[in-house]
Amino acid sequence: MPEKPAIFGGRPVVRKLTTGNKYGSEEIKLLKEAVQSGILFSAEGTRVKEFQKEFAKFFGAKYAVAVSSGSAAIHAAVGALGINPGDEVITSPISDMGSIIGVLYQNAIPVFADVNPDTHTIDPKSIEDKITKKTRGIIAVHLMGLSCDMDPIMAIAKRHKLWVVEDCAQSYLSEYKGRLNGTIGDIGCFSLQESKHMSAGEGGILITNEIDLYKKAALYGDKCYYRDGSGRNPVFLAPNYRMTELQAAVALAQLKKIKEVVNAYREVASSLTGRITGINGVKTINLPKGYKHSYYLYAFKIDVDTMGITAPEFGKALIAEGVPVRLDYDKLLLYAYDLFLNKSAYGKSKCPFECHYYGKKIEYRMGICPNAEKALQDTVVLITSRFWTDNDVEKIAEAIRKVAGYYLKRRRDYDL
Ligand SMILES: *Cc1c(COP(=O)(O)O)cnc(C)c1O
Repeated sequence: MPEKPAIFGGRPVVRKLTTGNKYGSEEIKLLKEAVQSGILFSAEGTRVKEFQKEFAKFFGAKYAVAVSSGSAAIHAAVGALGINPGDEVITSPISDMGSIIGVLYQNAIPVFADVNPDTHTIDPKSIEDKITKKTRGIIAVHLMGLSCDMDPIMAIAKRHKLWVVEDCAQSYLSEYKGRLNGTIGDIGCFSLQESKHMSAGEGGILITNEIDLYKKAALYGDKCYYRDGSGRNPVFLAPNYRMTELQAAVALAQLKKIKEVVNAYREVASSLTGRITGINGVKTINLPKGYKHSYYLYAFKIDVDTMGITAPEFGKALIAEGVPVRLDYDKLLLYAYDLFLNKSAYGKSKCPFECHYYGKKIEYRMGICPNAEKALQDTVVLITSRFWTDNDVEKIAEAIRKVAGYYLKRRRDYDL
């Protein structure tokens, strides 16, 4: 008789998980120096410039532009690439709004391609199906630390003359066939929001090898103010997405640790995979060949049919056992938001979706990306921590085994 799950009043398996502070003395030292310098404004200070230089160097890229968030980085990227009202941009339906906020602010149209059911990243074949005369670019979201299949995506882009932005907010140091994510497309965008592998509370940065893209992206994040002494004369509309010297001070300290941090996430993930592989009804993610995961989140699938429950229900049972689960994972389906279903981005105008610049109507409704919708029902997403010990991981595996065992037995008894 399997033990009673905590969700039905049993004893939780996980008591207390090891935690830690990702900020420390190095951040404090650099912050203090920033404050003592008397300048916290990027155009006059040295730290944002230094962070850009160090970040670009770390990735082997020529240029970097630091901004106030990951969403801002993507907005500056699509702006630099020359997006126009009514342009279509193909992207993944499973993501954070940050992937497409910039597209919408430019009055362009996000078009959602379906995902690969195993990896939950965008499926190149589906991208191809969605290309129209209006398509200008692709935003490839490397979800949870796992790269999109970049070779076919770059080939499609080349064939159709599209740009490619890599959304690396969740995938610092993840790799695709020996290349770091962020260095494959035209521009790679990163977030420094609190939850990411590298953080300054908030913040973002983009990298590119093209000087023109670099210059234009810098203008897009800085009110289109030229900082080269040529005078103030904005030629296009651009927001103020500037990063402060305080953020850059913390970011510089975080950059020094990023390898160590990602490795710690990888160790936790590999230990967990080892322990839950073979549990009945649970399926770990098959890492495609040539991919290196960075495990911003840890996903596994459950066999919904043999267990008779969906992943969100399984997740609730795990939370009762004391396991941190991302319960809103099934809410990350972008086109299911009212903003799209009601086309209410800009008041009552229905712009950009039915705007005359677009010249046609786009339809957003449930069912347009069936693989994505199914993936959100069979995938459990754990919020892992790099501070977890082997003992923590063992307890979590035990909780997963217990919950899976309970539901499998319940289903079998029910069938008898
Ligand atoms: C966090 C995130 C963003 C946005 O980053 P912010 O810094 O929160 O604006 C964009 N895309 C993905 C996939 C993210 O996870």
